[in-house]
Amino acid sequence: MNSPTPRSGRRVEPAQLADLAPASRILAAQGVVDGFGHVSMRHPAAPDRYLMARSIAPALVTPGDILEYDLDSTALNAAGRDSFLERFIHGEIYKARPDIMSVVHSHSPSVIPFGLVAVPMQAMFHNAAFIAAGVPVFDIRDQFGATDMLIGNGPKGVALAAVMGRKDIVLMRGHGSVACGPTLQSAVFRAVYTEVNARIQHWSAALGGGAPIAALDAEEGRLADQVNQTAGMRAWNLWRSQVKW
Ligand SMILES: [Zn+2]
Repeated sequence: MNSPTPRSGRRVEPAQLADLAPASRILAAQGVVDGFGHVSMRHPAAPDRYLMARSIAPALVTPGDILEYDLDSTALNAAGRDSFLERFIHGEIYKARPDIMSVVHSHSPSVIPFGLVAVPMQAMFHNAAFIAAGVPVFDIRDQFGATDMLIGNGPKGVALAAVMGRKDIVLMRGHGSVACGPTLQSAVFRAVYTEVNARIQHWSAALGGGAPIAALDAEEGRLADQVNQTAGMRAWNLWRSQVKW
C-alpha cells in the first residue's frame, strides 16, 4: 500500500507537552484512572490534531510516550507503538466541539452508578460546578446493540459526542465517563472533582434518605465554574508537584 505519509502538526512547545504526561500521572494519583483511562490535549498549533500517550498505564506515561493523532484518531508517528482502543472518544469530541482543548476518559468507580440508575448526577459543591449544566448518559446499546462496551471506532465516538452535545461531561452506561475542558488543567480538575462529586452525592442521598438534595443550580454552577478556571490552578500546581518521574 502506498498511502501518503501524514504530515505532523507543528512543533509543540516542550513546556506544553511537559504537562501532558504529568496530567496522566495526576489522574492516576487522584484515583480517577487505574490501569486504564487516558487524557489527551488538542495540538496547540494544529487544531485538527491531538496528542495522547501510546497504550500504556496512565501512571507510567513519560513525554516520550506521547503520540500525535489526526481527528480520525490515526496515529501519525506511532513507529510501531500501540494506540488506546478507545482513542475515538478523543478524536470525535475534538471534531464535534472546537471549544474543547482537553479530554479525560476514565472508569472511576463512584461515577459508574449514575450511568446505571435513573438518578441524575448533580453538582454537590463548587469544585464540581460544571456538573450543574447537566450530565447526559450515553447508552451504547441504543445505537449499536450488544457490544464489548468500548468506543472502539469512529461511529461509536460520533454517537458518544452527539449525546454529550454542548455539555462538558458524559457518562457511559456500564463503562465510565468523559470530562472535558478548555485547557488541559481544567479537564483534569473536572475529572478529579467529578469522581469526588459522585462520592458526595452517594453520601448525601444516603444521609437524606432519598430526600431532595440542595445541589447547585445552573446559574450557581456557571458562576462557580468561572472561578474554577483560574483558582483550580492551585490544585493543579499541588498535584503537579506530587507526581514523580
Ligand atoms: Zn473506557
